Amino acid sequence: MTDSAVLKSFIDGGWKDCASGRRIEVDDPSTGKIVSLVAEAGVEDVDLAVAAAHRVFRERILVDMHPYDRGRLLFHVADALEARGGEIAVTVCMDTGKAIDVAREEVGTAVRYLRYYAGLADKLEGRSIPRGANLVDYTLRSPFGVSAQIVPWNFPLELTARSLACAIATGNSVVIKSPDLAPLSGLEIARACETAGLPAGAVNILTGYGHTTGQALIQHRDVRHIVFTGSMATGRTVLKTAADRIVPCIMELGGKSAGIIYADADIDCVVEAVRSGSFLNAGQNCNAFSRLLVDSKIADEVLERVKSCVEGLSVGPGRDNCDITPLISKKQRDNVERACENAIAQGARVVTGGSALRDRSGYFMAGTLFADVAPSSELFQTETFGPVLAVTPFDDPSNAVELANGTEQGLAAGVFTKDLDRALWTADQLWAGQIYINGWFVGGVETPFGGVKQSGYGREKGQEALDGYVQTRNVGIKLSQPRSSPSQAGAMRRHTL
Ligand code: NAD
Repeated sequence: MTDSAVLKSFIDGGWKDCASGRRIEVDDPSTGKIVSLVAEAGVEDVDLAVAAAHRVFRERILVDMHPYDRGRLLFHVADALEARGGEIAVTVCMDTGKAIDVAREEVGTAVRYLRYYAGLADKLEGRSIPRGANLVDYTLRSPFGVSAQIVPWNFPLELTARSLACAIATGNSVVIKSPDLAPLSGLEIARACETAGLPAGAVNILTGYGHTTGQALIQHRDVRHIVFTGSMATGRTVLKTAADRIVPCIMELGGKSAGIIYADADIDCVVEAVRSGSFLNAGQNCNAFSRLLVDSKIADEVLERVKSCVEGLSVGPGRDNCDITPLISKKQRDNVERACENAIAQGARVVTGGSALRDRSGYFMAGTLFADVAPSSELFQTETFGPVLAVTPFDDPSNAVELANGTEQGLAAGVFTKDLDRALWTADQLWAGQIYINGWFVGGVETPFGGVKQSGYGREKGQEALDGYVQTRNVGIKLSQPRSSPSQAGAMRRHTL
C-alpha cells in the first residue's frame, strides 16, 4: 500500500499525517486481510488537536454562536453523512465485520443522533431563582471546554456521532480518539464534519492506540471533560488519570445483562430477543442479552427453542448479511474461546457451539449456548463480548431478581412475562440503567442510556445526555434599589392594581 493511501487524522479542519510517520494496519475481520493503513497519532498530534479545540473554545467560536446555529451545523453533518450513507455502510461493515444491514442501521442511527441533538441545541435552558426584592439570580448551563472522547470499536460510527453531537450542541469543542481496531468509521464522521463546514478545530478526530494516543489525550492539560466508552478495566485507568486534574467524566462501560423469563412468557418473543440481543454483531454489544435466567418449570422447553434458534443462525461475513459475523480480531476471538473453556472447567454444560471456527479465514466463533451456568462462575460474572449466551434456572421471582442483580455490572436487564404487575415489579427491582420488557434493545436514540454500579455513570442518549456536557454556573445580581422599594412599589401598584 502506498503512503498516499494512508488515511490521516482530521486536525484543525484539515487532514494531517502523524509526526512520527507510524502506521496502523486495519484488517477486515471476515478475512484477516489488511485493507487500509491509518496514521498513528502520537503526543505531538494530540497537542495539535487539543490546541485547535482549545482555541475554538478560548475564542468562544461555538460558545457565543446562537444555539440554533450550532444545531444547524449538526444538521449539516447529518446531511453529509446521509448523502454518502450507502458507501459509509460498506466501510463500517469492513471496519467492524458486522452485517451490512446492521452497518446500514448504524449509519441511520448516527444520522439520528446528530439530528436529535441538533434539534435540542436551542432548548437547553437555565432558570431564574427567586431571592427577594433586591436580588436577581439566574443560572447558565455552560460548556466545559475541550471534550476528549474515547470510542470503542463495536459501534464506532454511531458512538462517535452521539458524543460529538451532544458536545457541539452545548458549545464544547471536541477531540476524538477513534478505536485502533476500527478506525475508518470515525474518519467518515470527520469527512462529514469537513463537508458540513464546521469551524476548523471544533471537531478533531485522531486515529491511534489507546495506551499511547488515548492516554496522551486524556491527560492533556487543556482537556476539561472526558467521555469514555469502553471496558470497565480501561475505564478504571481513565478515571485514575482524570483524578489527577479532577476532570469530570462520562463513563459508559461494559455489562453482563440478564433477562428474566417467567413461566408465562411468550417463548417466541424470548427467542426473537435472543436472536438479536445475544447474537447481533456477534454479541459484541455492551448491553447484550448475555445471561438468560429462566423459571425452572419451563427451562427445558426454553433451552430447546433457543438451541434450535442458535443452530439455525448463519455464520459468515458481514457483506453476505450473515447472522453471526466475525469478532473484531483474532485476540478477541481467542479471548471468547478461552472464556468458553473456563466455563466448561467451572461446570457449565455446552448446549451448542463453544469453540472458534478455525477452518475459516477471519475471526469467527460458533454461536454458543451454555446451560447450568453457576452464579459464581466467570461466565455468569464477566463480560464475554462474543456470541455466547449463559442459561441459569431460578425458582421464584425474588431468586430471579437476586441472580440478575448479582454481578458488578448494571447496564441493561430484561423481563419476559404476560403479567403486567409482575413485569413492573421486576423492572423496579432490577438494578440496571435500562430495562426492557418483552423484548431486547427496546431503547432508542431518545431514551437515556448508561450504567449503574460498575457499568459507569453519566447518561448518553435522550435529553438527559446533555446534562453531562454542561456545568451549571450561577449569576447573582444585587440591585441598587430593591424592586419593592416604597417609591417604586407605589408606582407599580397604580399601574397594576
Ligand atoms: P477498551 O476499553 O479496550 O477500549 C476502548 C477505547 O479505549 C479504545 O479506543 C482504546 O483504544 C481506548 N483506550 C485503551 N486504553 C486507553 C487509555 N489508557 N487511555 C485512553 N484510552 C484508552 O474497550 P473495547 O474493547 O474497545 O470495547 C469494548 C468495551 O466497550 C466493552 O466492555 C463494551 O461493553 C464497552 N462498550 C460500552 C458501551 C456503553 O455505551 N456503555 C458502548 C459500547 C461498548
